[in-house]
Amino acid sequence: MQTHFSLAQLADPEIRDADAILRACVHCGFCTATCPTYVLLGDELDGPRGRIYLIKEMLERGRPATPTVVKHIDRCLSCLACMTTCPSGVNYMHLVDHGRRHIARTYRRPLLDRWIRWALATILPRPDAFRWALRAAGLAQPIQGLLPARLKALLALAPRSAGRSAVIAPQVFPAEGPRRLRVALLAGCVQQVIDAAINQATLRLLRRHGAEVVVVPGVGCCGALAHHLGEDVLDRVRANVDAWTGELERGLDAIVMNASGCGTMVKDYGFLLRGDPAYAAKAARVSQLAKDVSEVMQDLGLKGSLPGGPCVAYHSACSLQHGQKIHAGPRQLLQRAGFEVVDVPEGHLCCGSAGTYNMLQPELADALKARKLGNIASVKPEIVAAGNIGCIAQLSAGAGVPVVHTVELLDWATGGPRPQNMA
Ligand code: SF4
Ligand code: SF4
Repeated sequence: MQTHFSLAQLADPEIRDADAILRACVHCGFCTATCPTYVLLGDELDGPRGRIYLIKEMLERGRPATPTVVKHIDRCLSCLACMTTCPSGVNYMHLVDHGRRHIARTYRRPLLDRWIRWALATILPRPDAFRWALRAAGLAQPIQGLLPARLKALLALAPRSAGRSAVIAPQVFPAEGPRRLRVALLAGCVQQVIDAAINQATLRLLRRHGAEVVVVPGVGCCGALAHHLGEDVLDRVRANVDAWTGELERGLDAIVMNASGCGTMVKDYGFLLRGDPAYAAKAARVSQLAKDVSEVMQDLGLKGSLPGGPCVAYHSACSLQHGQKIHAGPRQLLQRAGFEVVDVPEGHLCCGSAGTYNMLQPELADALKARKLGNIASVKPEIVAAGNIGCIAQLSAGAGVPVVHTVELLDWATGGPRPQNMA
């Protein structure tokens, strides 16, 4: 694609990066066919190629974002299916992140929109605040019908979180038997409030397979939720990089994520801090060490299985399959653990969760959820497994079968308890 940035614009390293991404696009349009919002809406501007044009125009002209640009960029899920499909290696993720920052800087949203975005970016990353918000949401259940559609997805999380919000304090969990690895676990923010069982299963699974697990003090939310809202999260990222870098001196083989949205973000820390001389190398090291829990379990090898285990539909979270290019690994682990694994048709399409998307774009999110649930039902599973809490929460209401994290099944198959959602 031809671009027309001036030399003065190209002096800005962010614009230089955007220019390189735009020039890689050859307008072929292959990406449109696999874009969930294009599939639903059939509008070129609701597909990746259309959004790329909108961002190009906006950045080249150096003008404030228009309502049209905001509408179509807001509808993007950041599912990154377009990056999997693109034959030219266009880094849509970095381009749309740049577009969102430009929108946040130059566009004044309506008041309710601003309030909801502020609340999501401020409350979700703080487990204590989020727990209180969910309690309040629980009290609001009886008046659910009176609330704006955008708050209903938050209310839906309230029952899921009841009685399960044990947060893991920073500490070292020794390996069972001889130590084979030493890893840091990102305890996360939203996940440990709405489903603490996932971290517990992860700890048991890793320790049983010889990993010493450390939850490092000073590490908080990875920043993904606010980052995708166009907020500046670099101070949060720097704080995490500092905390993990301190732990590196005591030896770390990997930094483990069990929410794939967080994994995609931490694997990008090196890029996000590339222009900061004090942090670029440290952040790149953190990204290099970041691994999804399924990658670590593949390295460790599974000890034990549940022969004749139930039939599992494996839902490949977008942030795993498109964001981190991890698809076969978790599936193979489940098979080795004794489960019969079936693929979900249209597996490349997002379930509509996408971080805070189901709260900001409820109609599109609901349409994608209904499509995903229909596809899951068509393969008649006994369980659905996914590697991302957003997908698990999105699909739980309506799946008709338990929806659990992949690690909960691997833990069960190798000596842990049956997942509590299956009790
Ligand atoms: S990230 Fe997903 S929704 Fe956004 S343009 Fe790409 S495929 Fe479409
Ligand atoms: S598939 Fe890649 S090169 Fe083709 S239009 Fe989409 S982003 Fe551009």
